[in-house]
Amino acid sequence: MRAHRVVVTGGAGFLGSHLCERLLAEGATVICMDNFLTGSPVNVEHLIGRPRFRVIECDLTGYVHVPGEVDLVLHFASAASPTDYLRHPIATLKVGSLGTLHALGLAREKGARFVLASTSEVYGDPLEHPQRETYWGNVNPVGPRSVYDEAKRFAESLTTAYRQSHGVDTAIVRIFNTYGPRMRPHDGRAIPTFVRQAVHGRPITVTGDGSQTRSICYVDDTVQGVLTLADSDFEGPVNIGNPSELSMLELAQTIRDLAGSSSPIEFVDRPVDDPAVRRPDTSLALARLGWRPEIDVTTGLLRTISWFEQELLEKSRPAS
Ligand code: NAD
Repeated sequence: MRAHRVVVTGGAGFLGSHLCERLLAEGATVICMDNFLTGSPVNVEHLIGRPRFRVIECDLTGYVHVPGEVDLVLHFASAASPTDYLRHPIATLKVGSLGTLHALGLAREKGARFVLASTSEVYGDPLEHPQRETYWGNVNPVGPRSVYDEAKRFAESLTTAYRQSHGVDTAIVRIFNTYGPRMRPHDGRAIPTFVRQAVHGRPITVTGDGSQTRSICYVDDTVQGVLTLADSDFEGPVNIGNPSELSMLELAQTIRDLAGSSSPIEFVDRPVDDPAVRRPDTSLALARLGWRPEIDVTTGLLRTISWFEQELLEKSRPAS
């Protein structure tokens, strides 16, 4: 890594905690800023006490101050699962708008590179498949998911304006569904839900008829893509995700098989504006960053299932 002193906003969340861990392993000093809305200090407790790691509890939508030099700001603060952002709609809009404004202001003040964690959700329910960065999306601005989608679209626009008007060295990464250890079992996303249900032998709840597709990327691959972008001069936007596409029903059956579970599949209502298909075109990431995902779905899911098994077992053990 070129950067020596890195701020990770949302650093106590799922992706943020993996970023902090990797950055520390690569020799950087890491300042994790988080208000613990959907993340937790538990995600970074194994890093606390290391000399190059610091956690600052702070709400990015308020006053933001970091003493000393900063080379890189990775702006990852935002609720990301539909359950979370539907529970916190205004906080999600605020962190995408005001939070991004403040994170950009920090990068500008410090002369740091800035990377915005955007999302495949900017493509909405896409009419182009697979999705390339040139596609502008199909988003309902007043639908329930808009609090997330539109906040991220605004954040992309603000990031671009800071680059053009203030000369901040910015980049935008559009992350597609990422999974792995440290997702919360009840965060409402498909993989933690299916794994939890399979491990407990409960019915696996697939929404709609399960024919809608997602493309899932293991967290280590996403982290590698984000850090390669951060280390480059490329501004993006660039898709980071795994193009191997699965229907939700296939995903549920695969998880059930890999977990050695005999849970039945149960079909439940599909959420409003749930996208029918989702698959990244990653040719730009390959051409500009030399990045492609390395971890196949079976390997990634097995690692995730074994982490969840341990977590769920620990939680169900009576306190001594
Ligand atoms: P997460 O909920 O685990 O992490 C988000 C973190 O941001 C949490 O620790 C939360 O407490 C923190 N946060 C929220 N509001 C804040 C505020 N106002 N001030 C300070 N901290 C705040 O979610 P995640 O899956 O790790 O996602 C991280 C980022 O990556 C998000 O910006 C999300 O939009 C983006 N992303 C994630 C995925 C994915 O599949 N995980 C896909 C696309 C984009």
